[in-house]
Amino acid sequence: MTTAPAALSMAIARDLPALRREIAALRRRAASVALVPTMGALHDGHLSLIALARQAAEAVVVSIFVNPLQFGASEDLARYPRDEEGDLAALRAAGCDLAWLPTPEVMYPPGSATTVEVAGLSAPWEGVQRPGHFRGVATVCAKLFLQTGADVAVFGEKDWQQLAVIRRMVRDLDIPLRILRGPTMREPDGLAMSSRNRFLSPAERAAAALLPATLREVAAALRAGVAAAPMLQAAEARLRQGGLVPDYLALVEGETLQELEAARGDGTARLIVAARLGTVRLLDNLSV
Ligand code: AMP
Repeated sequence: MTTAPAALSMAIARDLPALRREIAALRRRAASVALVPTMGALHDGHLSLIALARQAAEAVVVSIFVNPLQFGASEDLARYPRDEEGDLAALRAAGCDLAWLPTPEVMYPPGSATTVEVAGLSAPWEGVQRPGHFRGVATVCAKLFLQTGADVAVFGEKDWQQLAVIRRMVRDLDIPLRILRGPTMREPDGLAMSSRNRFLSPAERAAAALLPATLREVAAALRAGVAAAPMLQAAEARLRQGGLVPDYLALVEGETLQELEAARGDGTARLIVAARLGTVRLLDNLSV
């Protein structure tokens, strides 16, 4: 596939009338539109999704919205990193055609009462740690899909459960949009890139490399047919020794997220992990 030439200029929309105008303008010159939803503080992981979007469609819309609905009361909404100027420069350089920057009031006007709940898939793992999180994610993604009318939306494998929830929602609600997924971009020591990594102290940042290293080791053993439970217990203990506090480390069926006792040898299982380090929660996963 060929990549579309970089956009000559990038439009910015901050409210729905502007978004509708800009989408209509895009539609006059582009046969297909891809959407990359983000919360900003963009890094190379986000940019890799934008590159995929440019291959998949003639025009690319990137949304930046720190979605209050997906943050719990005790979570880091207020301190979530925000860098609009840096993000817009990165988007221009990446060939984004339209940046969609709604405020919370634009996204959720007073009286907003409708949410989307993807039962089952939203409950385990992150759902236990962050009650209501996936209701917020599903609701905002449903709105972004309807607002933009995109043909394709691109999500990262980094947030595996989120990807599963969104795919289920799109199927269940017959949303005419294709979901594409991009592989996890990593730092040289293997740590998955994340907007929150900037909150790690130098010592924590060094300790964080234990997470992907442990995942790789466990995944290799599981691929070789070792039973999951004792492997996972030992790995959790190693993470604790290294200063991480695991919330979960599990082998699951990739689509249903149901726990597995051993890998199946067909690459459909996923090793998923969340661990706290200082004030940061690190998420990662690997195919097994
Ligand atoms: P966020 O801004 O963290 O909400 O992420 C926006 C999108 O980027 C989501 O689809 C994430 O899964 C994806 N993403 C985040 N980190 C990475 C990464 N390291 N590699 C690839 N995609 C990522």
